Amino acid sequence: MLPSKNFKRSEFACKCGCSFNTVDAELLNLLDYCRKYIYSNTPMIISSGNRCPKHNLKVKGEPGSKHLLAEAVDIHNAYKTPEDALEQFNKLFPNKYGFGIYNWGVHIDIHPGPARRWDRRSNKRKSEIKVILKVLA
Ligand SMILES: [Zn+2]
Ligand SMILES: [Zn+2]
Repeated sequence: MLPSKNFKRSEFACKCGCSFNTVDAELLNLLDYCRKYIYSNTPMIISSGNRCPKHNLKVKGEPGSKHLLAEAVDIHNAYKTPEDALEQFNKLFPNKYGFGIYNWGVHIDIHPGPARRWDRRSNKRKSEIKVILKVLA
């Protein structure tokens, strides 16, 4: 059993079926914290956790990906947009960790050193957002 009520070890396991299911304690604490303070205790679905080198190649992950070290997860949440989650994450951790947003959700990692942030949403999605903002204005 992990010391978390919200996440199970199997949720972090590499999707290829190898037995890479390590869970980093700091990442787990960070996820519990985000679940409470960003996602208001709603489910965070881990779509990708640990990756062995073979699986990382298969899903076209970056060569130095934190997923290879069991230090990163990709998350889906139905209740908060990636951009809102990023805004709140920056308030909680202005100088720490990695947080990237995509059309499908967010990537969170515990790399050491200064904060890393990125927005890899596609242009199509961004233009859709602009259209929505225009409609609302
Ligand atoms: Zn694997
Ligand atoms: Zn990722």
